[in-house]
Amino acid sequence: MLSLEQLSQMVKKHLGLCNYDDDIHYLCKWTIKESQLGGRGLVATEDISAGEVIFVDHPLIYGPRASARIERGCSVCGKISCDTFFKCFKCALPLCSENCQNTDIHYKDCSLISRWHNKTSIDHIDESIVSRALTPIRSLLLNEDDRILMSSLQAHNFPQHSVEIQHLKEFFDVPDDEEQLLVMACCALDTNAFQIATAYGSKQTSWRGLYPVSGLMNHCCISNTRHNFNADHQMTVTAVKPIRAGTEIVSCYTGLLWGTPARRTHLYKTKHFLCKCVRCADPTERGTLLGALKCFSTECPGYLLPIEPLNSSTAWRCLECGMRVPIKNICAVQGALGSLMGTLDFENVEQLEYFLTQRIIKFIPKTNQIVVDLQCRLIWAFGEVEGYRWHGEY
Ligand SMILES: [Zn+2]
Ligand SMILES: [Zn+2]
Ligand SMILES: [Zn+2]
Ligand SMILES: [Zn+2]
Repeated sequence: MLSLEQLSQMVKKHLGLCNYDDDIHYLCKWTIKESQLGGRGLVATEDISAGEVIFVDHPLIYGPRASARIERGCSVCGKISCDTFFKCFKCALPLCSENCQNTDIHYKDCSLISRWHNKTSIDHIDESIVSRALTPIRSLLLNEDDRILMSSLQAHNFPQHSVEIQHLKEFFDVPDDEEQLLVMACCALDTNAFQIATAYGSKQTSWRGLYPVSGLMNHCCISNTRHNFNADHQMTVTAVKPIRAGTEIVSCYTGLLWGTPARRTHLYKTKHFLCKCVRCADPTERGTLLGALKCFSTECPGYLLPIEPLNSSTAWRCLECGMRVPIKNICAVQGALGSLMGTLDFENVEQLEYFLTQRIIKFIPKTNQIVVDLQCRLIWAFGEVEGYRWHGEY
């Protein structure tokens, strides 16, 4: 385990801030410290203004996300919905074109995988399994320093965090020492990786990257930063509000516009902690009412909210008439709403608009996260989707 001082040095070297002849404090307004939220965190050493860039991180490794639910794309360019897909005859990775096959990226991926003895012919290897394991596989290319940096990141090591490697081993003989590194990479990825955003409507598979400095930021549901990516997968972290010296620099690991029950469940399932931040502790979520449901009494126009939001089995109560509703009834409604959302075709703008304005609004408050989500989707679609483009400004 690295000391905080050693970690700071490695992180600054990773960011390219490590010119010891210069005074690096001019470039960097934060340090790594023990965090009040637990473990380590980034803490401002000087006041940072809203809009100021805090750092620009780049990934140790990046590539396809591991989830089985994600549509698989070309292992080089990420393209999906392409009718020229084929499987590399040496490594079984999916590719969209010979161009992508002839890239340096594929050459490296292919060399790593094709060294391993395959237990079955390439024809019989499921390419999606290889694609799911590709991001951790790329950790085999890291130099010694980067491996140390990766191993110093926080990592959950429950077996579910390396299931993609267990699947990979059904097809390939992976040497033990390499398997160990792959498992460590999976655990570091699941704990720290960021999903790399793509442009709205782009037909790209979903990628993730292991950003070691961003990964040191702790979570808070009221984040003081935002981040965005450029085409080279660099991640710029910017202050969204003034951050005073001594304050921890945090990011939100879940959907910012999700209500408290959705955020806390997601954090618990993926990051294994129950958030207790001020937003989670406030039944109204600072007046946003993102999780609110309509009162079960048909005569009452009030909203239902959890009585003790930090207790996941809490009853809910109507703000207007005081009616108490047990958690199991609340869960039933939330489940039904989730299923209803699952039936929607998010590409169909007309259907979304009808669903929002004529149907869902009858059952849930207009502040609820589902309404907000549908509104955002419609805003994104208008002007972008064929048939709904803005006119006259070309
Ligand atoms: Zn491609
Ligand atoms: Zn190949
Ligand atoms: Zn929270
Ligand atoms: Zn009521």
